[in-house]
Amino acid sequence: RIAWDADQGLTRHHFTPGEHPIVRIEHLNKSFDATQVLKDVNINVWPGEVVVVLGPSGSGKSTMLRCINLLETPTAGHILIEDQEITGKSNADVNKLRRDVGMVFQGFNLFPHLTAKQNVMIGQTKVLKKSKEEAEAEAMKQLTAVGLADRADFKPAQLSGGQQQRVAIARAVAMHPDVLLFDEPTSALDPELVRGVLDVMRDLAENSGMTMIVVTHEMGFARDVADRVVFMEEGVVVEQGLPEDVFDRPKNARTAEFLGSIK
Ligand code: ADP
Ligand code: MG
Repeated sequence: RIAWDADQGLTRHHFTPGEHPIVRIEHLNKSFDATQVLKDVNINVWPGEVVVVLGPSGSGKSTMLRCINLLETPTAGHILIEDQEITGKSNADVNKLRRDVGMVFQGFNLFPHLTAKQNVMIGQTKVLKKSKEEAEAEAMKQLTAVGLADRADFKPAQLSGGQQQRVAIARAVAMHPDVLLFDEPTSALDPELVRGVLDVMRDLAENSGMTMIVVTHEMGFARDVADRVVFMEEGVVVEQGLPEDVFDRPKNARTAEFLGSIK
């Protein structure tokens, strides 16, 4: 049977019949002290799907991503990656999980003393135990894909913010994660540098088959690239569906208000 989302036309992504979701978020709740930040969040993501998460500041988008890679511990609920439950696991399993789930942050988080190429190599050699030669070949492949082969030997301080973020994307992709999470990857960039990073993400979405969950306020990107858009507010998934439906025919008044406010 084809996944229910596909049957109901809620995503643009084409499924293989019988395919399982690669990420399952089931009844996810997260509280910080008395404040409930995520309230019964349920999201499935299928292999190769690009899901864009929208919502006002403080709605819990980052907390949800941080639960998926266990930077936060859910208060209740379950998260499964490739049918493996990741919630409630030992440290050893957490390390394995961090290999399967890549993350690109708002800040670029590159090692300042390493070159671009060394930044892309280090996870491959230390975590995946690849040889230096293999890691270097993969690093050059991924730096080429993000248009930075000629900057391979530059240190982060010698690169623009946009170039640093493209190195961070190359580093994440070089680990070949099952799913790649992006948390407002262009929010810290000067406006003229946003385009180059979005182009790299678009290329990844359209040509690599990578499963991506992207938190962003870039509406053009969401509309063009997303297979499905999820709108969150105050810790609740208010609405999800095809980008054209959510943008042009929002069912929920809060979605409409939010989209109206940032146009
Ligand atoms: P978003 O990414 O949508 O802007 P966040 O997930 O960052 O939202 O935050 C959701 C809510 O959770 C906010 O009210 C924020 O203040 C609160 N929050 C996030 N992290 C913590 C934390 N470590 N301790 C306490 N409150 C937090
Ligand atoms: Mg956030």
